[in-house]
Amino acid sequence: MAAAGGGGERWSLAGATALVTGGSKGIGHAIVEELAGLGARVHTCSRNAAELEECRRRWADKGLRVTVSACDVAARADRERLMGTVRDAFAGKLDILVNNAAQAMAKPAVECTAEDYSGVMATNLESCFHISQLAHPLLRNSAVAGGASIVHISSIASFQGYPGVVLYSMAKGGMNQLTRSLAAEWARDKIRVNCVAPGLVMTDMTKEVDMEIVEQ
Ligand code: NAP
Repeated sequence: MAAAGGGGERWSLAGATALVTGGSKGIGHAIVEELAGLGARVHTCSRNAAELEECRRRWADKGLRVTVSACDVAARADRERLMGTVRDAFAGKLDILVNNAAQAMAKPAVECTAEDYSGVMATNLESCFHISQLAHPLLRNSAVAGGASIVHISSIASFQGYPGVVLYSMAKGGMNQLTRSLAAEWARDKIRVNCVAPGLVMTDMTKEVDMEIVEQ
């Protein structure tokens, strides 16, 4: 986005708007703080309204401009409601979208149920496609130099085979291709689409995963 100046000064996001899914905890929480700390107005969501409100109060105490709303990204109607809220909050314009919310799923392939499959795909992959699709008109309205930006939070498990995380890995692999396809299609709209693929980060998500399954 816009550099604040030379001489090693930090980048400024003053005037920019951002939507980060899953900002109440872990990596998403850190992304919200970083973007808002650089001057962006940020909207974030998760499924837990009380936890979100607690986060919002703490961010407001730090002087960060963050709004929140509850949303289950696995539910189509929730995603549509989320984008309506963002459209109203940011006057129809969005500069940054971070598709971060996801669920873990550590289970041997032979034990995965149809519900496990559809739940992981809806939360970790379909949501990213649909939220990007809904955000497209807002991102096209971005006036930031260099255009708008979508960032997908993928995983090292998207390109490396690990036992016990097949559904999670498949969804993240799909996210990598979603990134390439949207980057090619939306370059003409001045929307950059990128993906980061972290290794292990200690968050609530990794606390919930039975590492014995993954390390077998
Ligand atoms: P986390 O600590 O579990 O946080 C996940 C966030 O997403 C929470 O705010 C959670 O809030 C929200 N969320 C989960 N399901 C949701 C849903 N259906 N609708 C709306 N919000 C939802 O996870 P994390 O470790 O920070 O992971 C963040 C991203 O990084 C994920 O995409 C993950 O796959 C990726 N990643 C993590 C690691 C790692 O080692 N931690 C490594 C590589 C990639 P609620 O549960 O209250 O809804």
